[in-house]
Amino acid sequence: MSTEVVAVSAVSAAQQPSPSTPTQQNAVEKVNLLGMSRPQMEQFFEDMGEKKFRAGQVMKWIHQFFVTDFAEMTNISGKLREKLEKIAEIKAPEVVHKNYSKDGTRKWVFRVGDGDGSLVETVLIPAEHRSGLRRTLCISSQVGCALDCSFCSTGKQGFQRDLDQSEIIGQLWVANYSYMEDVPVADRERSVTNVVMMGMGEPLLNYDAVLNSMRIMLDDFAYGMSKRRVTLSTSGVVPKIDQMVKDIDVALAISLHAPNDELRNELVPINKKYPLEQLIAACQRYIAKDGNESSRKHVTIEYVMLDGVNDHPEHAQQMIKLLKNLPSKINLIPFNPFPHAPYGRSSRNRIISFQKTLSDAGFVCTIRQTRGDDIDAACGQLVGQVADRTRRAEQWKKKIAQSNEIMRSQG
Ligand code: SAH
Ligand code: SF4
Repeated sequence: MSTEVVAVSAVSAAQQPSPSTPTQQNAVEKVNLLGMSRPQMEQFFEDMGEKKFRAGQVMKWIHQFFVTDFAEMTNISGKLREKLEKIAEIKAPEVVHKNYSKDGTRKWVFRVGDGDGSLVETVLIPAEHRSGLRRTLCISSQVGCALDCSFCSTGKQGFQRDLDQSEIIGQLWVANYSYMEDVPVADRERSVTNVVMMGMGEPLLNYDAVLNSMRIMLDDFAYGMSKRRVTLSTSGVVPKIDQMVKDIDVALAISLHAPNDELRNELVPINKKYPLEQLIAACQRYIAKDGNESSRKHVTIEYVMLDGVNDHPEHAQQMIKLLKNLPSKINLIPFNPFPHAPYGRSSRNRIISFQKTLSDAGFVCTIRQTRGDDIDAACGQLVGQVADRTRRAEQWKKKIAQSNEIMRSQG
């Protein structure tokens, strides 16, 4: 696949608001408005002695017109803009590397945290769909992951830290803005149509930040996305699935990967805490509440196909029994290998016969494409690619240093 690789330095990233000087930083720790949900921003304005409706106005500027400079917010009085400039900022996470492929795929590497920080990836894949062009963004919620699934490279790195709200929603902001950089502010539009919380990390273990970020995705004053087009994927944090029922209405995907407890304990260790019976019951409760609403008509079951491990005909039979009372769509994912992975990918024939067994039993069962033009494949690859993150981090650092060097030598 031919790609156009662009290395950007921290300072030259066009979409980054200019970093404050050290003196400014010392003077006031500014509040970042990028990651605030509407109730949070309303509170912020009330605390300033301003009217709540300012929140909606500012959110529109940020998330629909991609404006980071208060001076451009023309429906806000000059006096309030000045006040905002003193205490607040709109700051996306720093893009240290971006890669726009000719096939339309876009990837970004963000640096989060202080100093050298940690690196997080986000990928966007466009695909023609009967409803028009879809642009799906695969968003990360944590740096690393504590859950240590045996087939997952993110898990192998252990947990480093949670992303905050501005770092999570910032991934969506940067992706949308990337299509609008050269468009006059008044003509800007939101380009990303779908979000899957399937990047690095377990979203339900960073619950509040993920919840508020998803609220911003659904908010008409921000991205206004349909609840069917925002999907949260979890390895099965049961109490938080129940909490989601109370808090938000989005699509749910479950990383099942094994149809019995013995095998699932090995592949997805959180199963020891919340075994299959509890997980399936939580999925049933998720559906029961709003059975008629399309985002909760079914759950998506993700099942990574590991050669000789979970791909036997008897596993398909166990799946049929396990899921018989759960409205679900099954997505078989060919394993995406990474260095030192203890598994191989099931053969094409094996995957197809697994699919046939499930389809014959009446399930909607698809096989995830492994080509680069499929968003889910890209998510798998994203997870795979960070396997050797230390090595990749070194490569990025070299590229960034090189581009800085070129800029310096050009004066
Ligand atoms: N922690 C959440 C979301 C991130 S993982 C979860 O586990 O659901 C996103 C998806 O990628 C999950 O379905 C996960 O099982 C899958 N995945 C992880 N490693 C993979 C690999 N090496 N090959 C294919 N899919 C993988
Ligand atoms: Fe964490 Fe999901 Fe990877 Fe498991 S599959 S280690 S839960 S990111």
